[in-house]
Amino acid sequence: MEQRRMDYHLHTLHSMDGKQTMDELCQSMVEKGVEEICLTEHIEPGHPGEGIDVPPIWDVWLQEVAECRTKYPLLTIRTGVEIGDNPLCRHQTKAYLDELPLDFRLLSLHLVNGIDPYDIDKYFAGKTRDQAYREYVEAKVESITDWLDFDSVAHIGYVAKYSAYTGPERALVYQDAPDAFDTLLRYVIDHDKCIEINTSGYATTGDFLAHSTIVKRYIELGGEQFTFGSDSHNVDRNYADIERAKDAVRAMGGKYQASFCQRKKTLYRI
Ligand SMILES: [Zn+2]
Ligand SMILES: [Zn+2]
Repeated sequence: MEQRRMDYHLHTLHSMDGKQTMDELCQSMVEKGVEEICLTEHIEPGHPGEGIDVPPIWDVWLQEVAECRTKYPLLTIRTGVEIGDNPLCRHQTKAYLDELPLDFRLLSLHLVNGIDPYDIDKYFAGKTRDQAYREYVEAKVESITDWLDFDSVAHIGYVAKYSAYTGPERALVYQDAPDAFDTLLRYVIDHDKCIEINTSGYATTGDFLAHSTIVKRYIELGGEQFTFGSDSHNVDRNYADIERAKDAVRAMGGKYQASFCQRKKTLYRI
């Protein structure tokens, strides 16, 4: 089984917060010797933030993907989506996605009881660390276990990415909610899904998301399948720290990195 240089969490200008064109993204990936990328533009149904619930115009996006595939024949370009799950309109989101012929579904959660922890003042106000973090984990478990049709679980520990806490209190670790994490991780394993290693966590939490303690538990429980993503929104972060994260996960006993084509999974050695 071979290894492969892949980045499975990427945003372009087709995401409302993207800061690079698809062409700039592809060009920089080719320069880095990356073999495969998956575009995971946002959909955020019902997100209350201004201008956030704005999905890509898929026809235009797919046309651009086709052009990039022609221009960069050595780069495999997969089509994906980062699903910003929202329990209030989950049913409609599932129906919406069934109309989109994508390669990969990355299941994400940016809303906890209707508030995005990115909005630090609002989300953390009046809560202890334990409450703020536990509410996120409970919402994440509720989200994942109500979905079957997805491929990988995005950035477990998102609450820590923009947290009101700093230093050793910042990261969301396994010990913060062992029972809830076990439920989540067992669900992923039982349903043959992946968890994401998201390298955007390094800058603020000092580790990837999910935190190493959670990844270690996933492996202990028998979890073998991962996707790796930089969650880059600009040229400077494309493929950032992916090799570093792969080294770390491999050292922990992690086995496979997944690639998806029309939702069909191929495994590579990490
Ligand atoms: Zn996200
Ligand atoms: Zn993202």
